[in-house]
Order: sequence, then C-alpha cells, then structure tokens
Amino acid sequence: MADNPPLTFSIKFHGGVDEVTGSRHLVELGDKRVLLDCGLFQGHRLQSLEKSRTFPAEPASISAVLLSHAHIDHSGGLPLLVKQGFSGAIHCTAPTADLLSIMLRDSALIQEEDAKFFNKLHADEGVTIEPLYTLADAEKTLGFLVPHPYDEHFPVAEGMEGSLHNAGHVLGSAMVRLSLKTLKRTRHVLFTGDLGRRDALIMNPPKIPHHVDYLLTESTYGGRRHPEITGVAEALTEIILRSEKENGPLLIPTFALERAQELIYMLGKLMARGKIKPIPIYVDSPMATDITGLFQKHLDSLSISDDFRRYVSRNGDPFEGPAVHYVRMSEESKRIMNLPGRKIIMAGSGMCEGGRILHHLRNLVGEGNTTILFVGYQAQGTLGRQLAEGAKKVRIFGLTHDVAAQIQRMKHFSAHADQDDLDWFIQGLSPRPEKIFLVHGGQEQREALKAHLENQGIGRLELPHYGERFELD
Ligand SMILES: [Zn+2]
Repeated sequence: MADNPPLTFSIKFHGGVDEVTGSRHLVELGDKRVLLDCGLFQGHRLQSLEKSRTFPAEPASISAVLLSHAHIDHSGGLPLLVKQGFSGAIHCTAPTADLLSIMLRDSALIQEEDAKFFNKLHADEGVTIEPLYTLADAEKTLGFLVPHPYDEHFPVAEGMEGSLHNAGHVLGSAMVRLSLKTLKRTRHVLFTGDLGRRDALIMNPPKIPHHVDYLLTESTYGGRRHPEITGVAEALTEIILRSEKENGPLLIPTFALERAQELIYMLGKLMARGKIKPIPIYVDSPMATDITGLFQKHLDSLSISDDFRRYVSRNGDPFEGPAVHYVRMSEESKRIMNLPGRKIIMAGSGMCEGGRILHHLRNLVGEGNTTILFVGYQAQGTLGRQLAEGAKKVRIFGLTHDVAAQIQRMKHFSAHADQDDLDWFIQGLSPRPEKIFLVHGGQEQREALKAHLENQGIGRLELPHYGERFELD
C-alpha cells in the first residue's frame, strides 16, 4: 500500500443478500481485502455448488476473514477458501472456534458423502462431481482460527481494526465491527451476522455497539413477529400432556446447535417444576451431544444469559439432568425404539433431510400415538416441511409411508431477531448510521423491513444484490 491511506473503501455483497444462505461480504481498503463471513450456499445442488465455489476475490489475495458465528451458511465456505489458497487469519470468538472444529468436520463429511452419492446416481451419464472439500481441508482450516474475547480490538490488516460483540444468536455468535482508516478519517462498519432476540431462553440479548457509520444487518424476519418467548413453557407443556394421553413417543427433529440445548433446558425445567411427569429424553445425535459439551465448557461466555447461569447455580446443570440420555453409537440409537414406556427422542437433522431422525420417522410416522413436534424453520422441499404442512404420505428411504402420527409445530424457538427486535436494535444505534444495508433475507422480507423502517423515519436503506459493490468514504 502507498504511504497515504486511500480516500475510499468498498463493500461487495457476494451472498446472503436476496437469500439466507451463503453469507459473504468483501471489504476492500486500498489493496487490502477482508471477508465478512464465508458461508456455504444451500438449496438446489448444482447451483449452490457453483455459487459456493465462486469467491468475490482471489482467495490468496484476501488478508483475513472476520467470522460472525459457526452456522454453516456463515462458515461452511472456509475450507474451500483455504483449499483455493487463502492463508490468513480467521478471527472469531473462542466458542465459535470450538464449534467449528465439530461443524466444519461434519460439513466436510457431508460434502464427501454427497459427491459420492451424486456420482453413483449419475454413473451411467459419465457426470461426476468433486466434493467441495474434504475432511483434510476442514482440518487445515481449523489451524487458521484466531479466537478473541468479545469487545477486544485487534489488528486485521493495514488500516483495519476489528472487534467482535455479542450478537445473541447462538453460543459464541458475534457482530463484527470493522474500523477502516481512510485518508480523512476512520470509518466504522458493523455487520450483525445473524442477530438474536431481546428475549431468548439461553442467550444474552445482542449488545448494541456504539458509533456505526455503515450497518449491514440481517433481515430474515422482516415483516414478521415471533410468538412471545414467555409462552414457550405453556405451549410445550400442552403438547407433552396431549402426547401423554396418546401414550406414545414424542419425536422432535432438532438442530444440534442451540435448539437441542434449549429443549433439554426447557424440558428439564418443566419436569423439575412438576408441570410434566419425568420422561426419559434421548438426545440421539453425536453432534448435539458434543455441542452440548461446549455449552458446559463456555458457560462463562458473554453470549450465555445471566438468567441461565443463575438457573444452573440454583438447580444444577440442566444438561446433566436425570432424564437426559446422550446417544452416541448407532447400535444404541436403534435400541431406543424397543425401550418400554414413554420417551422423548431428539434427533437430527432438524429438517429431516438426513441423519438418525429418518430411522425414527420410518418406524414411527405411521403410528397414530406418535407425536412429531417441529420446533424450527422447515425449508421448502424438505421432508420436514411436507410433514409440518400435513402431508398424508411421505417417502423415506425410497418407500412411501402413510402419516398417522400427530403433527405439532411450535414457532417460539427462533434464534433470529423478528421485526420488532430489528427495529429495537437499529433505533438503538447512536448516532444513526449513514447507510444501512439489508442482507440475509428474502426480497419480500427485506422490502417489508425497509418499508417498516422508512415509516419510523429511518432512511438511507439499501437492498444490495448479489455481486453489487458500493464505494464508501
Ligand atoms: Zn445463524
């Protein structure tokens, strides 16, 4: 770089803009480039693979990555970035670094399996695909992680300083604040990553940082409002009491990070308070089991709420409650079915696209006394979505099954800010940012949020598109 700092800097939006996967934004100051998040695109296979393989700049020319959190749509492109020549620091919080060592390895195994499956299916046509990355690429990536405590300032590249602030979304999740030194002044960019809620079960609310010139905020729930989190105990109790009358198992397709821990905590609390009778809870997921261990390890993290810590000190560790059984081995998983009495089975994947949940569904979906409870978002085209929307027949492992199980849905558990939370967060920024970019939301949600904010007198809102670049000063 020349002796004088540059006059301007730029932000290029390269994913997670008209959609909620593939979060990637490039910030350039002179010849220095840093990437905010490096997510994987999910959805239609070939299209997503192509988009995941395309980076906004030559990976070797990127100085550093600032990572908001461990979810794969924010972090899952990292092993590919490394495979293609990136060798800089990946800045994140310590819990995020620990989560990545589980989640990137898992993602690599899925990539390898996926390519194998695709190639077998298309063997006759001579079409083959390479896995996006392998376990070895994921393991190499872990060596580039540089953990930081929340609120600490650290150098990122010449003229750039970073810091991470609690985003309240999942364990270790952070908003990324980047300070850039241009010729005239220092400018502050804040990227929310995924933003949590003001009221959550385990997480502290997001911490509103001071002085932001340019804001990049998620908008997943633009135009929408979640049910009050305070209603979660009552709604869950009602579902469990109803399933008790049926005298059958309760099956909960569960995401391994956050949702699994929230459920274990809530179920334990309901049992401890006598709201529901003690029922064994089988956490039938090695990944959820490992991640639960990280909640115990990082109990002191700022991302964990004081209320939750108080609960732990008064009542003991909810993840070690007498009703909770962690199931690692697949042999054990198969045995759960034959165990007598009522049971709650939590298994992944959360949208029933793979994993052990499929075996349980195959065995139980046709039983009228089974309850299947959906507690998370179900994407279009997934088995979870079909079931949640009341499909009468579903295909599992190539066979058609009649659905006789009771289907229940709870929408209380979202880890994302809804429109009221986003409004609270944006109104709380002082002084008001000069420009606000709405990212990580469908077009409809972004437009709804934009209209809402404009009604509140907040202007200078941008809805960037894939590949769009903004020159800022
Ligand atoms: Zn997330």
